[in-house]
Amino acid sequence: MSAIWHPFTQHGLNEPVPLVERAKGAALYTRDGARVIDAISSWWVTTHGHNHPRIVAAIRDQAERLDQVIFAGWTHQPAETVAEGLRALMPRELTRVFFSDSGSTAVEVALKMALGFHAHTGTGRSGIVVMEHSYHGDTIGTMSVGARGVFNAPYAPLLFDVGMIPFPLGDGDNTLSAFEALCRETHPAALIVEPLVLGAGGMLFYPAQVLAQMAEICRAHDVLFIADEVMTGWGRTGTLLACEQAGVVPDIVCLAKGLTGGALPLAVTMAREPIYAAHLSTDRAKTFFHSSSFTASPIACAAAAANIAIWQDEPVRERIAALARRQAAMIDRLANLPGVANARTCGTIAAFDVTAPDGGYLSTLGPRLLAHFREADMLLRPLGNTVYVLPPYCLDEQDHARIERVIESALRTLLP
Ligand SMILES: *Cc1c(COP(=O)(O)O)cnc(C)c1O
Repeated sequence: MSAIWHPFTQHGLNEPVPLVERAKGAALYTRDGARVIDAISSWWVTTHGHNHPRIVAAIRDQAERLDQVIFAGWTHQPAETVAEGLRALMPRELTRVFFSDSGSTAVEVALKMALGFHAHTGTGRSGIVVMEHSYHGDTIGTMSVGARGVFNAPYAPLLFDVGMIPFPLGDGDNTLSAFEALCRETHPAALIVEPLVLGAGGMLFYPAQVLAQMAEICRAHDVLFIADEVMTGWGRTGTLLACEQAGVVPDIVCLAKGLTGGALPLAVTMAREPIYAAHLSTDRAKTFFHSSSFTASPIACAAAAANIAIWQDEPVRERIAALARRQAAMIDRLANLPGVANARTCGTIAAFDVTAPDGGYLSTLGPRLLAHFREADMLLRPLGNTVYVLPPYCLDEQDHARIERVIESALRTLLP
């Protein structure tokens, strides 16, 4: 028996844990000889497809040159190339690039930058405002700014207080008026949101207009606007950043998952110049004190540089648009099936809820759906009774049709 304690896995349920030996494009190949379609991009990280030859070559090449070097006060070419590439690709107001190694750390860094900005400019502000149902990671800080519930109930005593605004309904007046009131009454330091799509909260979508108005309220009240684009970034919602669709440039942006095309762990937190400037001083006490051992790993940076080059020279946006059209067509068909509610798409993400008497993450339907998909060699991992398809951009029509057939058969088999 394996000694491994897996993440988000209840070992007491004795579910099988398949062993994956290799991957290519949208497929995973298991030791048992199965070809499994990776319909959730291995937890939202794989963008172009597994083992993209350019990313693999960049990793191999870099590994032979420089494996690791301290990043405090030292630098290396792969990191410089990534920073230049990000400056060229991302909104030009985002002038500074801070490296870390996961989405959670990118968010922690964003929160520390925001607090550092307010501390060093003497505003006296420190409160954080968050949106209901949000997810920003699993560290103590990121759990604090995320939804409270079954995922973090035992740790509640360690989580800090935040201001909470409701998830937008309709035109989002409920959210905007609550946010405006919080800004007036509590003078928060920052708002952190997942733009357009709340991922782990259940693939909940809200209109770009609401995002634009939240950013406007931030500006009017001198509240920093932090966009957690860890899941939505790198084309997932149809544009490079989801914020583009609202025509807004955040003060701070968190990027991770697809930064290396999903091949290696790496994250960046990008900030506007005034946030950097607030830390810039001859006073060493104003240094931005954040690091981890593997900050800006050269090998991970080489993978990210290859990803950025792919964005620059391959028709990635066209691939995304084509996938988004096929996802929308699939969702139109699935929406007519009995048991399907709230069928929705946002860019390359398709989602719907299965009508279950006990909705929510611990819905008893979830494990049954999961087992059905696993037996059909399909990597789909419903969030409770919400089924979503979030594939690599290389998914072809044949595999897409197979995903649809497997979902249809799950609904036929599992619903009364
Ligand atoms: C996945 C995710 C994170 C956490 O990223 P990790 O790399 O898993 O730490 C943070 N924010 C959002 C929106 C995410 O989807």
